[in-house]
Amino acid sequence: MSKRVIIIGAGLAGLTAAHAAAKQGATVLVVDRGPIGIGTNSVLANGFFAGPSEKYSPDDYIRDTLRAGRGLNRESMVRLVAREAPSAFQRLRSAGVLLKDRGAQRCVVSPDPSVIPGVALMRKLADLVKTLEGVHVLPGFQVTELPCHNGRVCGVRGFNRKGEELDIDAPAVVLAAGGAGAIHRRHDNQKKILGQGYALAARAGLDLWDMEFVQFFPLVFADPRLPALIVYPPFAREAKLVDSAGESILEKHGLGDVNDAIVKKRDSFSALLFEEAQAGGVFLDLRDVPDSAWNVHPLAIFKRLRFDFRKKPVAVAPAVHFTMGGLRTGETCETDIGGLFACGEILWGLHGANRMGGNAMTECVVSGALAGRFAAERALREMPVPSCREKPRQDLAAAAVPGAGEVRDIFSAIRATAWECAGIVRSDDGLRRGIERIEAIEQRLKPLGAAGPGGRAVLEDARASALVLRAILQASLGRRESRGSFLRSDFPDEGDGSWLKNSCLGYDADKNTFTVKYLPVEGA
Ligand SMILES: Cc1cc2nc3c(=O)[nH]c(=O)nc-3n(C[C@H](O)[C@H](O)[C@H](O)COP(=O)(O)OP(=O)(O)OC[C@H]3O[C@@H](n4cnc5c(N)ncnc54)[C@H](O)[C@@H]3O)c2cc1C
Repeated sequence: MSKRVIIIGAGLAGLTAAHAAAKQGATVLVVDRGPIGIGTNSVLANGFFAGPSEKYSPDDYIRDTLRAGRGLNRESMVRLVAREAPSAFQRLRSAGVLLKDRGAQRCVVSPDPSVIPGVALMRKLADLVKTLEGVHVLPGFQVTELPCHNGRVCGVRGFNRKGEELDIDAPAVVLAAGGAGAIHRRHDNQKKILGQGYALAARAGLDLWDMEFVQFFPLVFADPRLPALIVYPPFAREAKLVDSAGESILEKHGLGDVNDAIVKKRDSFSALLFEEAQAGGVFLDLRDVPDSAWNVHPLAIFKRLRFDFRKKPVAVAPAVHFTMGGLRTGETCETDIGGLFACGEILWGLHGANRMGGNAMTECVVSGALAGRFAAERALREMPVPSCREKPRQDLAAAAVPGAGEVRDIFSAIRATAWECAGIVRSDDGLRRGIERIEAIEQRLKPLGAAGPGGRAVLEDARASALVLRAILQASLGRRESRGSFLRSDFPDEGDGSWLKNSCLGYDADKNTFTVKYLPVEGA
């Protein structure tokens, strides 16, 4: 269909893009490997949006975002978001989302405090998108390739829940496939957020920027009986953070307040808690928190879990939270491939070396609206592109089918390598070891084929995860400093003299190799 926009990913960015594209009059197809809106990281969000308001000027927002990014942000992107955010918040309100002003942030108010704000937000947007004229949804469709012709995208290739291979033509495609948090052993993301979008883009010929910058969150449940839920501030005064001997971790390390430690010293606090967790454990003791606090967010959510927080402390530890690196686009969110747009967490540029809290959701609603609008304009004005059916298909028939145990084993090797070699604190030795390990894993994956759609999905995920982990390891190896979320035990200082640079990884699909360059920050 010549005037169609395909959107890959039904998270906050993808649904915002769908809304914007439909408003322009384009026909929109939203595809997601999972259910629409619900298998996404967006449903897990605490619902905070950073951005200018009456009490927080655009200049303050720009200053704080650049400060968090430690000089590596793409300033034009920060300014774009500062400019566009207020109207993006207004659109959310018009869509019926309850947004409360909280100084530097807006927050989604969930009508029920025991429902995660992201769930309330995404339910509303998913319901709305399904009622828009011209918008169609295809859940359970996994995109495996972005076929291109003469530097232009011509649609998507993938398979549906029955395992049927489909080529869907379109002159404009929006990649809103999210981040890669779940490639690590410990993370707070949805299990299938495995960097598939970065892999699709790299294989199509796009560079990956600043992939070494991965954000960790200090306090995430680590008890195996509980989901890996993030423990957000503000904490009640009565909450304590203790080690295995019951000693206060904050007092031991001379840290005043836990809320301050999380918000202002997130990276060093994560590294410290990582050491403590390795040494014997970190426990959040909520036993003295008064009854009234359990009826408000976030404790109202914890109260629904099968764990008696009022009788025993719960184990917590840092975990991977967010991927700062990704794809470079222009102000219309179009990538260097004509007709291919990107939005949401998969983008690079706004966050630099670390993301200011609340800026991921803002990035989704700003870039989603731009990508949707300009993708629609492109689809409505372009002549039809060649069909992607002309591209040859990968021959999977000859491949060896692995047992379920083997794929599980490969996944756990990827997650262990990510956590042990590309974790909170990295080193030359560890990174080199990580690259060797991931190359060996990729060799194991190479001859494998799939039996049935489930097996196919798992294999595609494993290949994407391995590729993205290799990108993270390679970009990390060359950066010989510590900055923002990126900590090296062998180069503990921030090296402004040589390192005000962004990493840029080019992928050679024929040789299956990355080449990394470190380029001076735009305008520096
Ligand atoms: C626990 C938690 C709390 C958070 N809280 C906040 C917060 O309060 N404020 C804030 O600013 N940020 C927060 N974040 C970060 C923020 O939620 C995410 O960055 C944001 O939701 C990402 O949205 P997205 O639309 O880019 O991607 P997602 O919401 O992750 O959606 C991407 C979708 O693309 C699909 N997909 C991927 N590859 C393919 C493929 N090949 N084929 C088909 N479909 C595909 C995925 O299945 C997924 O459904 C939080 C993150 C977590 C994990």
